Amino acid sequence: MKLSVIGCGYLGAVHAAAMASIGHEVVGIDVDQRKIDALSKGEAPFFEPGLPEILSEGVASGRLRFTTDMAEAKGAKVHFIGVGTPQQKDGYGADLTYVNAAIDGLLPYLSEGDIVAGKSTVPVGTAAELTPRVEATGATLVWNPEFLREGWAVQDTIDPDRLVLGVSSRFARSTTEGGDAGSTTEGGDGHSTTGEEVDVVAVMKEVYAPPVAKGTPFIVTDLATAELVKVSANAFLATKISFINAMAEIAEVVGADVTQLADAIGHDARIGRKFLGAGIGFGGGCLPKDIRAFAARAEELGRGESVGFLRQMDEINMRRRDRAVQLVVDGLGGSVFKKNVTVLGAAFKPHSDDIRDSPALDVAVRLHGLGAWVTVTDPEAIANAQAKHPQLNYVEDRDEALRAADAVVVVTEWDEYRRQMSPEHVSTLTDGRVIVDGRNCLDAAAWRAAGWTYYGMGRP
Ligand code: NAD
Repeated sequence: MKLSVIGCGYLGAVHAAAMASIGHEVVGIDVDQRKIDALSKGEAPFFEPGLPEILSEGVASGRLRFTTDMAEAKGAKVHFIGVGTPQQKDGYGADLTYVNAAIDGLLPYLSEGDIVAGKSTVPVGTAAELTPRVEATGATLVWNPEFLREGWAVQDTIDPDRLVLGVSSRFARSTTEGGDAGSTTEGGDGHSTTGEEVDVVAVMKEVYAPPVAKGTPFIVTDLATAELVKVSANAFLATKISFINAMAEIAEVVGADVTQLADAIGHDARIGRKFLGAGIGFGGGCLPKDIRAFAARAEELGRGESVGFLRQMDEINMRRRDRAVQLVVDGLGGSVFKKNVTVLGAAFKPHSDDIRDSPALDVAVRLHGLGAWVTVTDPEAIANAQAKHPQLNYVEDRDEALRAADAVVVVTEWDEYRRQMSPEHVSTLTDGRVIVDGRNCLDAAAWRAAGWTYYGMGRP
């Protein structure tokens, strides 16, 4: 099928390449000429495992191309919208400037029967507001939120754990197919399905033919539900992380160990151990801005109190960054002024070079602000970090970065720090013996046995 993908960032570039890899003919469109130049050569403009391979294959096959010219979207059957929805500069809501610009830019090139599929994460109600503009062209607007995880984006796009499709309310019905139950409840609400509705759903199933064929749950819902599914999933994940970080705060007062606590409660299948890693908290281009936008939207809807807890989750999250900084200060005897502090990690999480709202970099910047000589290293994110925070010292080689460190802080749990860094080896690089484990990813006993003063998050 001919597809266009508008917005070729972390979501869109992966989506375009993944769709080409499963056999579609795809044009990726972005306003950023540098990104388009790189993508056109089959080069990934950011680090994402597996992306370079499917990009270069797609470009070489002729099924995948990139352009800045929106006119090239003409002729595609489905147009995916994957532009950014960042936090507003002067508020907590989502900035929809880019979504509106992408839709307006696309309108002249839409044809009768085309489908515009929103993938960007938007405040509930956005799709309903955009619908008349799209429908005036004879095209249909659907919302198809994206759940990919950076670092696993290629796999998550080609083989997602579920697909959600929001369609206009006049088509609305509740349908779940595939999954364990394998049940189909099409038209289960008694309302008859129109030919147009079946078409839209059928076309979207054809787009996602491989996962649909293997029984991946495909949930058809109304537009508002689809939008809400995405933001509530992120709200839940943020809440789970902040919950365990709140327990870490209590554990710190009484000398308890939050990692053991997480293991113990995680054995309860209703709770589960995933996303119960206490540490310096979440960041990145999605969770922080998505929970803020959700709270802001709920307030607009007169239901601010329903998700009032999200503000607290946000506050807990930000306090953990303070805590990590405080541990370094305490570890160095009350001041970091003119002390060498090596920060291991800059990306907001491993397997990514994304530094948007990275707690790792935030900790580094705060330590710098307190007068420390901060050296940052990261396997993939140095270029991005350097562009955003040129005041910090960056060193590519991990061991070089560790040399002469008075204190070491692990803030991104790359394998290079978590698994491949023994305390004995680091002891040969520096006389400093203070390590702050901002991700609770190190073997505390091993570091202590090697003579280090180890500080974890929520651990004695
Ligand atoms: P990004 O900033 O990496 O990419 C957005 C891209 O859109 C940029 O390349 C930008 O140049 C381009 N763009 C902006 N205006 C445009 C226009 N008018 N026409 C064409 N291109 C335009 O952002 P991202 O991380 O890819 O996120 C995009 C959306 O997807 C957001 O709503 C985000 O919340 C959502 N999302 C992201 C992820 C993720 O892991 N990154 C996961 C799920 C959902």
